[in-house]
Amino acid sequence: MKEMKVFCEHCRIESECVVYSCELTGTIRGVDYKYKGKEAICKKCGRLVFVPEINDENLDSLYSVYRKANNIVSLEDVRSIPKKYNIGKKPLSLLLGWGEQTLSRYMDGDVPSKHNSEVLKELAINPISYLDLLEANKEKISAVVYEKSKKAADALIREDVIRKENRLCTCCMEVHDVPIVRIKDSIVFKGVPVEFYVNCYYCELADEYYESQDMLSENDIAMKDAYRKKLGLLTTTDIHAIRSKYGISQSDLCVLLGWGGKTITRYEGHQVQDNAHDSILKKLDSDPEWFIELLEKAKPLLNADSYERYYSTATKLLTLVGFTV
Ligand SMILES: [Zn+2]
Ligand SMILES: [Zn+2]
Repeated sequence: MKEMKVFCEHCRIESECVVYSCELTGTIRGVDYKYKGKEAICKKCGRLVFVPEINDENLDSLYSVYRKANNIVSLEDVRSIPKKYNIGKKPLSLLLGWGEQTLSRYMDGDVPSKHNSEVLKELAINPISYLDLLEANKEKISAVVYEKSKKAADALIREDVIRKENRLCTCCMEVHDVPIVRIKDSIVFKGVPVEFYVNCYYCELADEYYESQDMLSENDIAMKDAYRKKLGLLTTTDIHAIRSKYGISQSDLCVLLGWGGKTITRYEGHQVQDNAHDSILKKLDSDPEWFIELLEKAKPLLNADSYERYYSTATKLLTLVGFTV
């Protein structure tokens, strides 16, 4: 508890106030959140007094609770991005296809939409995604800004030792700290040249790069995703995100779409989907109403609980359409 002198709007004088911590509830986008905040009470009249600084602090803690609860990118992460890639807020906003001030507002504490938050989270941790974005949109910014930022991102990737593992190095057959590094690779896949990044072990003793079975598998998906991106197809992450949005399992989504039981599993992995299947998934992404239609038709084939869950999720999405920021 502490005391401060502030203007009491009830007594209409500068008055002694007691400030104490308490649990408060705030509403964001229609949902109530409990958070630790502060209140000031006028000692003279015993009523709540509005103190701008306390109000700001309260909003900060409310929004930080909201961000955590909704898995929204943290403010620190948002603020780290322009510094990391040596680019201004405005050009970065343009790269992202957002309004010029959008990123500035996020850096000042505005809460991004779920979608923009995912984009920012990815950029905060992955210089490769940033480079993709930079390359694809370089005509939107000046050549000088582009060069400067590309240099910063390239440097991050070259130095990108993800972590070190003390293990039996299958390259030199000795136990030592083996760094896992990210390196750029390129290949021609189905006639299309693709560039992508792979994770692999680097044996400093033998100066050689090599992959474990898991890495081979992940790196293959990275390659397929680069190929998908180049052809404008949904990536494995995109497909997974669409499915998560509806909270539906891989096999049930196949039931809805009348596809073979393993189709989605394969598309979220090594098998690249064709254009027809890709278009259907894109439609599903943007059209919860259609999802519900399909769900109704597939109802007899689904477990009753699952049906109810999917239905309620899709209905919620439907009410959110047009409300997205
Ligand atoms: Zn008062
Ligand atoms: Zn070794």
